[in-house]
Amino acid sequence: MKKLMLLAVATAAACVFVGCGNAQDDAGKPLRMITEATFPPYEFLRGQEIVGIDVEICRAVAAKMGRPFHAETVDFDSVIPAVISGKADLAAAGITVTEDRKRNVDFSIPYVKTGIVIIYKKSAPVTKGGQCKGKKVGVQSGTTSETYVIEQLKQEPERSKSPAEAVAALKSGRVDCVIADIDPAKNCVKGEADLAISDFITSEEYAIAIKKGQPELLKAVNETIAEIKANGKLAQWIRDFTEESDKMKDR
Ligand code: GLN
Repeated sequence: MKKLMLLAVATAAACVFVGCGNAQDDAGKPLRMITEATFPPYEFLRGQEIVGIDVEICRAVAAKMGRPFHAETVDFDSVIPAVISGKADLAAAGITVTEDRKRNVDFSIPYVKTGIVIIYKKSAPVTKGGQCKGKKVGVQSGTTSETYVIEQLKQEPERSKSPAEAVAALKSGRVDCVIADIDPAKNCVKGEADLAISDFITSEEYAIAIKKGQPELLKAVNETIAEIKANGKLAQWIRDFTEESDKMKDR
């Protein structure tokens, strides 16, 4: 009996030490990233390939862990559920850290400070959050822009699958303005002489989401983010993928 108890204590101690069920078991298994590839420059499609800043961050995490890498795209509102269910190991999709999401997943240290803006027609400017009240406001489903419309404006938004789809609704007059994260918003208005964007209406930070209770993975993600911030790689990826996704708009 004593022996058995000792074994149990030793196993528990070993689990704390190595982070049970993590590194050892997973070595060699692909690190599965889940994202939503309509969000340039963080993630977008280059032909069939999912590319972008978030993809490079997760690829660097896989390299640090010595694991192969795999990325998959789903609708934004399915991204966080995919890590909760274990379908993916980590979610990177320009995901804003929110108290609500923190209840369901663990977040890495943030890697970008950002926020949401209003996209409007120059002929009918909407430049302040309050001016959206009572208007038809387009948003991407499941995003902090959707939450803003519901919680701050106390009304129902017009939901789309992507920022670009929401902006198409603005162009065709089905909505009066769109609320979206600044970088995809900038990409959407690029080359559109009639459209403009407001200043930030919120202040947000992006981080990587992982299933709760995975200290080894969280550590690898945090170390990777600290490294790519310090060695200039993150800044380089931001420049490169902004340029590439802007060019795609020009075609
Ligand atoms: N940052 C926003 C959010 O987390 C939008 C992210 C996205 O659409 N990919 O809700």
